[in-house]
Amino acid sequence: PAASAFASLRTIDLRGTHLDHAGLKAALPRPELNFDTASEIVEGIIARVRAEGFAALSDLAARFDGVEQEYTRVPAGALAEALENLDPAVRAGLEESIRRARAFAAAQVPGDTAVEYPNGARVVQRWSPVRRVGLYVPGGLAVYPSSVVMNVVPAQAAGVGSLALASPPQKEFGGLPHPTILAAAALLGVEEVHAVGGAQAIAAFAYGVPAPAGADAGLAIEPVDVVTGPGNLFVATAKRLVKGVVGIDAEAGPTEIAILADATATPAYVAADMVSQAEHDPNAASVLVTDSVELAEAVRVELAAQAAATKHAERVHTALSGPQSAVVLVDGLEDGIRVCNTYAAEHLEIHTRDAAAVAGRITAAGAVFVGDHSPVSLGDYCAGSNHVLPTSGTAAHASGLNVETFLKAIQVIDYGREALREVGGHVVALSRAEDLPAHGDAVLVRFDGDLS
Ligand code: NAD
Repeated sequence: PAASAFASLRTIDLRGTHLDHAGLKAALPRPELNFDTASEIVEGIIARVRAEGFAALSDLAARFDGVEQEYTRVPAGALAEALENLDPAVRAGLEESIRRARAFAAAQVPGDTAVEYPNGARVVQRWSPVRRVGLYVPGGLAVYPSSVVMNVVPAQAAGVGSLALASPPQKEFGGLPHPTILAAAALLGVEEVHAVGGAQAIAAFAYGVPAPAGADAGLAIEPVDVVTGPGNLFVATAKRLVKGVVGIDAEAGPTEIAILADATATPAYVAADMVSQAEHDPNAASVLVTDSVELAEAVRVELAAQAAATKHAERVHTALSGPQSAVVLVDGLEDGIRVCNTYAAEHLEIHTRDAAAVAGRITAAGAVFVGDHSPVSLGDYCAGSNHVLPTSGTAAHASGLNVETFLKAIQVIDYGREALREVGGHVVALSRAEDLPAHGDAVLVRFDGDLS
């Protein structure tokens, strides 16, 4: 009955509006809290970590995580112990997750590209891993051992030599990260784990933090080249602010799902996937895009039942009632595809007729889940794909975490004398045109001024 439908999920009715790209973007839902609101706080945290080092980390750990810290590095014994005590079912799950992720990551490793030009000239693009990476694993409202797998597996496949992991200290575990996170790190052979959370962890990776006064130098956090991993708004904002000092994967912030569905969709599945996304964070977004008013109403009925019965009902209710979540009504499938490509969701599920064909027309999304039996929760853990994905519309230009995130392409130019002579006249002409004659002279000097 309509009376028991989930009422606080708002409707955005785009039927008959014919908005252009910018108009559509403005009409689509986004969270109230965003980078602008968080950046002042996060700038302050980054500045403190740079200026005060470990003293800032310990003060922030006391304030946000309620723990006292003498240093951040997790002792090797704690990693081994966590793995020993790991629940066998969780271990089996992590092992399957690792197996599938490794297969996909190995297949992503790009090969060299070489092109030959006349007279034996050769240009090659080869890939080289970054030296050291900092991998963030969230642990605020929920703990994410799955994010250990998602960060570590592609970094290892890329051949990165030095991996450091950070995750918030947990009061109930003596100030260490959650034991399942430690166990996952141990399972993957990661030895360097730091109990640091939030924006301060990102700052520590970007700028480095010397060992606390009087402590072993090995307790320092050495700066990294690339920082990756998901996190809340503070973590995502910190990544945006340190970008340039280090590379980042994407702004993998508070999570989002968009579901493109027509009248053939199963309301219970659509609702379950919206609820499962909302349980991550009160700022999480669940958006249903459909041309079927009947489906939208049936999903609301399901949402009312499922949201009330789920463990994190309050968080789910907040997320579904926020300005970032909505039912978006469109005129038909074409408009629905356009809306989804404009919204650029972190996760996009397709619950329509010919779902695979519709998925092929998606041009902006972190990841696309095809049909009734590819829920986002599968991708969160065990699909083989990565769950660290661009949020808040950044999927318009950014990619999910993958092997290339940890690689740089180096172009290698190898010309001999005759190859240079052949093209030298063009270099001289172009250098004169740019009023940089010394460039041309650098070629001419090799031939005593005579290229003929
Ligand atoms: P988290 O580890 O990201 O954040 C916890 C830390 O945030 C705390 O340790 C603290 O240092 C900091 N913090 C909390 N309140 C603060 C405040 N008021 N000011 C400054 N810092 C503060 O863990 P979480 O909170 O559980 O968030 C995990 C997030 O990761 C969720 O939003 C989830 O949706 C997201 N996620 C995203 C993806 C993705 O790929 N986009 C994947 C998995 C999870």
